[in-house]
Amino acid sequence: MEMLAKKWNFSKGEYEDYDLPEGASTFSKDMDEIVSCARCGKQLSFGYTYTSRQIQTQGGFGYGVCEKCYEKEWKEEWKEMERRKERR
Ligand SMILES: [Zn+2]
Repeated sequence: MEMLAKKWNFSKGEYEDYDLPEGASTFSKDMDEIVSCARCGKQLSFGYTYTSRQIQTQGGFGYGVCEKCYEKEWKEEWKEMERRKERR
């Protein structure tokens, strides 16, 4: 099955095609299953992933990312919000 993913670009305000690391997952019944972080490709148990706000399936389900990447997403989003405020 081909994995089609999209990534939300905070500064452009639109989705871009995204090349997903092998092993990235949106869902697992087994929390101990080893998956790849959809952003940096690091391997970790599914139970330790966070649902990405940026990297999603075409249907809009967020992929699992590691804690560090999740934090980066928040920071990018926050920075963009601040930038928009300044523009007003
Ligand atoms: Zn990561």
